[in-house]
Amino acid sequence: MPVVQIITTGGTIASRIDPATGAAFPVMRATELVAQIPELSQHAQVGVDEFGLVPSWDMTPATVLRLARTIRSTLAAGDVDGVVVTHGTDTMEESAFALDLLFDGEQPVVITGAMRNASQPGSDGPRNLLSAVRVAASINTRGLGVAVVMNDQMHAPRYVTKSHTTATDTMISPGVGPIGTVDDSGVWLRWRPARLPRMPLVEPEPRVYLVRMAAGMDDLFLRVLHRERARGVVIEGSGAGHMPGQWRSSLVQLLESGTPVVLTSRCGRGRIVPIYSGDLGGVTLRKMGVIPAGDLTGLKARIALMFALGAGWEPAQIMSYFARAGADDEVTIT
Ligand code: ASP
Repeated sequence: MPVVQIITTGGTIASRIDPATGAAFPVMRATELVAQIPELSQHAQVGVDEFGLVPSWDMTPATVLRLARTIRSTLAAGDVDGVVVTHGTDTMEESAFALDLLFDGEQPVVITGAMRNASQPGSDGPRNLLSAVRVAASINTRGLGVAVVMNDQMHAPRYVTKSHTTATDTMISPGVGPIGTVDDSGVWLRWRPARLPRMPLVEPEPRVYLVRMAAGMDDLFLRVLHRERARGVVIEGSGAGHMPGQWRSSLVQLLESGTPVVLTSRCGRGRIVPIYSGDLGGVTLRKMGVIPAGDLTGLKARIALMFALGAGWEPAQIMSYFARAGADDEVTIT
């Protein structure tokens, strides 16, 4: 029988409605989560570890670093075939991506959560936890790295995003789809995603900010970021990676002060492609030294930049790291 360790962090999957307030909050112990699902024992021998009990809007990349260290020592202790992390869905995509950058073990690490709390009829928590344990226990998922399992689908951290405020099928991978499914007859891994190179387990730089381009919005955020000495900036530009011409001088100020500026797209599918000249088309931005982040979303590029800066990487090293995310034609991802 495979051995799976369940590490709990909170979120809706651990939430109940408090009759006094009528509002939900994470309160459930790890043993309660497991006790709801007698079927678990048919698939794995499970152990539990209570790492935290927070809603995921309070999760941080620094907390994920501690989680990665916990997972590493759990696996180093031996005899564990896979790990399941329960987590709120709000920031699941960021934590999953950060863990995938930091984790280099053979055993799968599966992140799951719920959209309906344990007090609600049709709560999806028990089913998602059961499916996650089955994925973590499966022989098919060894060497996969980190996977998000929700609604009987498996997603790659690099592509997964929360797409609906309340629906149980909220987790999707725009443009590429799920990497696999779980059904009554087994765990079906259809394809293995390209993973980015591992990052060192170092404290992430917290002063990295994400700015979304909006039509006609002036450069106030960039000016503030320069004045307040942000360590790194990620911009979600329009289309294939563009910004309003009016942003030029504050962008130049940021770049001249040595602040790495990483470019992503607000589209959510596709990669950054230098097509246009002029202020501030993609060809111009590339000449200015803005770092294209391939097909990473702004949220994911920010996570990578935080760990890169935490490791003390120079701009050239950061540039070549993001090139592995499909920012340059010459790079083939294996
Ligand atoms: N709605 C969220 C969830 O699904 C709350 C959170 O992210 O903790 O868990």
